[in-house]
Amino acid sequence: MCGCEECAKHSPTDNVIALMNGVVARLAKERPGLVVETLGGYQYAADPPRTVKPDARLRVLWADWERGVRGGYASDDYARRRGDLDAWVRAFDGRVTVYQYYADYFKHSWFLGPLAEQMVSDREYVLAHGIDGVLTLLYPDGYWWRSSINAWLAGRIFYDATSDPFVLLREYALAYYGAAGEPMAAYLDAWARDVTLGVRSRSGAMGFHLGALRQQRRTYLTEAERLSAGDPVTQRRVATTVRMHRLAELIMGTEIARTQAAKLLADGDVAGARRELDGARNNLAAAKALADQLATERRGLIDPEINGSVFTPNEQEIAALEEKLTATAVVAPSPGTAPAQVPSVKP
Ligand SMILES: [Zn+2]
Repeated sequence: MCGCEECAKHSPTDNVIALMNGVVARLAKERPGLVVETLGGYQYAADPPRTVKPDARLRVLWADWERGVRGGYASDDYARRRGDLDAWVRAFDGRVTVYQYYADYFKHSWFLGPLAEQMVSDREYVLAHGIDGVLTLLYPDGYWWRSSINAWLAGRIFYDATSDPFVLLREYALAYYGAAGEPMAAYLDAWARDVTLGVRSRSGAMGFHLGALRQQRRTYLTEAERLSAGDPVTQRRVATTVRMHRLAELIMGTEIARTQAAKLLADGDVAGARRELDGARNNLAAAKALADQLATERRGLIDPEINGSVFTPNEQEIAALEEKLTATAVVAPSPGTAPAQVPSVKP
């Protein structure tokens, strides 16, 4: 933002709104009725307006990039962030389009479950505060950063304010997965009721998260595969979910093993660290092989252009641990001797 004396009198948001007020006033002469919307909530307009009142013809497209999957606008989880949204809605008197990332695997994990609870909480807030616009970001068809089920669910939830997302998900599964409808309905329901599991599949996973994924596979997916046998369409649809689930398990397994390796290494358990690190490497290799397969099929599950980069953070962590482990093994003191000095190799 400009740092001159004049601009410093107001916040960046207020300056933008003053600018946009001018744009609206001028456009109204040439094109009365043209809807103008400015961005709010992030980028240069992170804070709500304070000193400049938006023109009554100006709208705001408001987004909260930071919120978590459990933070519906009306929820307790969102209590600390809600003040900003309240202020935007007041300043614009409800002329707000809330910009939703429900269907965005770029912001979320790409193993995200249906955001049923968040949508219901959002809907409650939107209705209670007279917000008149909702927009869901949707990547193009076939693009892997797009969570189609969340896009569909959001459409239904906001189209009919009485709709229950869990009922809708069940309808969806029974219609889409044919003979495998019942176990797939139960599977979607489980994901919708524990959305943090999907997030954990990309970072911060613990052993019991992986246990939950394995349990889901045994309880729902194996049965769905059995029931879909003989129907190629159902079989293909179930296989899509099964393989993405497997990928989630492998990636989660990689991270848990390498985190464990780092912990064991820090505790001085070199053999244990070695074992876990090998496990991490095996998981990662299996994950990459599966992802390559999915990418080659080019059906919107994984983009070949992005595929490899997904594994880079885990690869780097594993390489760094390997280096540490090798150095530790080399300088590991035998019992009774003083700790060896690691020689400095700085030029
Ligand atoms: Zn300036």
